[in-house]
Amino acid sequence: MRRLLCQVCGRPADRNREGVLWLIGGEAPEHTGRTDALTTSHPPLCEPCAVRSVRACPHLRPRATALRVRAHTLVGVRGALYRPGRPRPAAWTVAGVAYDDARIRWVRAGQLVVRLESYTVVTLAAPCP
Ligand SMILES: [Zn+2]
Repeated sequence: MRRLLCQVCGRPADRNREGVLWLIGGEAPEHTGRTDALTTSHPPLCEPCAVRSVRACPHLRPRATALRVRAHTLVGVRGALYRPGRPRPAAWTVAGVAYDDARIRWVRAGQLVVRLESYTVVTLAAPCP
């Protein structure tokens, strides 16, 4: 995530003047009425992998939105959230926890979480189904 490598092939994610290519599952942000920044634990992609992912991934296939992201910030981690217990902490749930959240020290992190702050909805080279 920090190096903006494609989450599928590991090569540099696609980048142009509009920004870095990201895919999100679900409605295009301007169609949902959301005004807040998006957060995701999924790294960006290169365009060939984005097209293949939309075709192959059951989560993305029904509705995926491609974004060109101009500004993003690492804001936390996603992983197993533990709670105090005896004789040792007990796994409780899987959650995304912000760096400034007091629970951050109780997370066994598996992924970084990034906030996509400035983006444009775009169309992939091959249209999303
Ligand atoms: Zn790739």
